[in-house]
Amino acid sequence: MTQVFNFSAGPAVLPKEVLQQAASEMLDWHGSGMSVMEMSHRGPEFISIYQQAEADLRELLNVPANYKILFMQGGGLGQNSLVPLNLAGRKAQPATIDFVQTGSWSSKSIKEAARYAKVNVAASGEAGGFTTVPPQESWRLSDDAAYLHVCTNETIDGVEFNFVPTVQGAHGRDVPLVADMSSHILSRVIDVSKYGVIFAGAQKNIGPAGLTLLIVREDLLDCALPICPGVFNWRAVADADSMLNTPPTYAIYIAGLVFAHLKRLGGVAAMEQRNIEKARLLYAALDADDFYRNRVAPECRSRMNIPFYLRDESLNDQFLAGAKARGLLQLKGHKSVGGMRASIYNAMPIEGVQALVDYLNEFAGR
Ligand code: PMP
Repeated sequence: MTQVFNFSAGPAVLPKEVLQQAASEMLDWHGSGMSVMEMSHRGPEFISIYQQAEADLRELLNVPANYKILFMQGGGLGQNSLVPLNLAGRKAQPATIDFVQTGSWSSKSIKEAARYAKVNVAASGEAGGFTTVPPQESWRLSDDAAYLHVCTNETIDGVEFNFVPTVQGAHGRDVPLVADMSSHILSRVIDVSKYGVIFAGAQKNIGPAGLTLLIVREDLLDCALPICPGVFNWRAVADADSMLNTPPTYAIYIAGLVFAHLKRLGGVAAMEQRNIEKARLLYAALDADDFYRNRVAPECRSRMNIPFYLRDESLNDQFLAGAKARGLLQLKGHKSVGGMRASIYNAMPIEGVQALVDYLNEFAGR
């Protein structure tokens, strides 16, 4: 098989060991004679897979006992509707939701939430072309928001939070912090207790598309609006151990293999150290001279998704063709912003980043 390095933003590279294990268990999982895809989600085999995945994720992220882990569907975008539908009921209607707008994904969340609540954009990086996280001192939070929504890693713009917002509303009231961590969950150590809700589509740092992960503080399970669809009601999903309807069983199985793999590698703290090193290597090559350019303020640069532009954009096609010829795949930037983007999730080895750096230097004639 040809050696390639896959820089896709998602669905994205998965650990080779995980894919090999899945391949070896494809036809007969642990002597059951069945593929995981063929198992009832209510049978003992799949229940054991699910419980192990849940326990390993809880351990990896040190999830406190008063938080539920939900395995859902509908993707990150689904949660743009489901978060307001499940939380806006905390307040008299119409509730207000605070947002910090840091890029394309938080912008989509704002637009969707406006269908269910009043939205207050407490701060926005739009005027600066989404190159920073506006400092918390500049945020204009409302007095009594149902919650504050942030996207802690903007996959398209390459902007990542390097702090956890403090969310005391006026008069010290508790305002739950909701974070879309789709593109950097498990890449760095987080303190789950600082958040009310964390959600993430799986197809970047967790596993295959089709699974959406939620971590929800228990007291936030009972705040849904009456119009919230029953099958997406967090309380109902939690009470049914994510088996209210048929969950994405195969995606949960692969996610479980990824969790076990991360544990073997030393957990999230070990991944964070590797990710810091990978990002340092890549940004250093981009910053070496003005042949390439990353526009994001250095302190807000994402470790996972690194957009960059060639000084001479007429060379874009040539750059991509040369990359592909070297097995460096899926480097084309998102269509909304153009340029290039290298996504270097947990499963991207440092050798892949080094191969990209070598190519960047060669192409720039260094
Ligand atoms: N939020 C973020 C930060 C994302 O990167 C993405 C997907 N790229 C989404 C939400 C949307 O996820 P999905 O396609 O799973 O709906």
